[in-house]
Amino acid sequence: MKAFQNIKALLNKDLSGEGVNNSRIILIRYISAILAVWYAIVGIFCLIMPFGGYAIEFFATAVGFGGVLYGSYRTDNNKQLLGVMSMIIVVSSFVITSAFGWRISFQNYLYVTLVLLWYDAEITNRIKAFLSLLTSAIVCVISLTTRFGITVLDPSSLEYHIITFINIAVFCYCLSLVAYFFCTQYIASEQKLMMYNQKLKHIADIDPLTQLMNRRSAMEEIHNISEKFATSNNSVSIAIGDIDFFKKVNDTYGHDCGDYVLQTVAGLFSSKMEGKGFVCRWGGEEFLFVFSSMNGDEAFVELNDLREDIEKFHFMFKSNEFRLTMTFGVDEFSNNVSVDEIIKAADEKLYMGKENGRNQVVF
Ligand code: GH3
Ligand code: MG
Ligand code: MG
Repeated sequence: MKAFQNIKALLNKDLSGEGVNNSRIILIRYISAILAVWYAIVGIFCLIMPFGGYAIEFFATAVGFGGVLYGSYRTDNNKQLLGVMSMIIVVSSFVITSAFGWRISFQNYLYVTLVLLWYDAEITNRIKAFLSLLTSAIVCVISLTTRFGITVLDPSSLEYHIITFINIAVFCYCLSLVAYFFCTQYIASEQKLMMYNQKLKHIADIDPLTQLMNRRSAMEEIHNISEKFATSNNSVSIAIGDIDFFKKVNDTYGHDCGDYVLQTVAGLFSSKMEGKGFVCRWGGEEFLFVFSSMNGDEAFVELNDLREDIEKFHFMFKSNEFRLTMTFGVDEFSNNVSVDEIIKAADEKLYMGKENGRNQVVF
């Protein structure tokens, strides 16, 4: 069991630099190791049979696969390795198939290289098509030049059946290995892609400082809500809130403290808005609130609570403790009024609140 694990670790050994896809090398390594062992076994079998002369072909092929295996630890050029492996399979298929016959299936390994070739993302389709045609031609030539029925091994013997059976099993195993490697790789890259997409969406939609939705993604959401509003009798309200004398915070305690305030109020807003709609960072120290099922009066009450919460909150940054207030303007959706007009109305009311002495909600 331990020996098996050591062999597995050796076969999976990653020698490539970062950013290099080594899975194809490992796959070639697996296939060449299996085939080196299998051809060597058949070579030994030939030695104990009357046709010992053919052992040399099997041993030579086994050494060839051994060379590919060795090469896989020396280079990360998988195309070169695949090329050498294909050449070994082509040559050995010609010699072995003409002696042992078509049914024993040594020519099948050509299909393994064919599939490996098609899975390579860096080879152009034109080259792949050309090499596929070439493989078909080679298979055709082997098929046409193999004399039917005449083999060095009696086709009715038990040995013939055993070698054929194992050979087809080894071929199926190699093909399954190719499928397994590429399926797992495909699934892994698909998962990676989904993760990157989520990350990109997060970067595109979320304000990095406050972790609230940014203006762009909020506008998308507001338009979705306004479309639904047109076909339902739901009430929707929009408010804009602005921190009073925020510049003073930056000037007195520094920009980092200003950032801390923005993050803190964003946290307060998020928990307050849970289940009621959403809040976004509209820009600077301004926040936009969408109450997705409240009319202006109801939103006014919520915002007034929020305004009181902020007023009572003790901001603590390093050794500085201070308090702040906010001013809000709110307006409600109505038919025949565009989203932009509602936002503009909320903004005008916010401005009125500022003019009237701040720390208030204006509806
Ligand atoms: P008012 O009560 O009229 O709203 O006064 P104010 O000082 O809050 O408004 P003003 O528009 O004069 O100042 C807003 C300040 O917000 C200026 C800008 O430097 C600051 N600010 C904008 N974005 C950020 C930010 O991401 N971090 C920090 N720390 N400050 C920011
Ligand atoms: Mg302000
Ligand atoms: Mg402002």
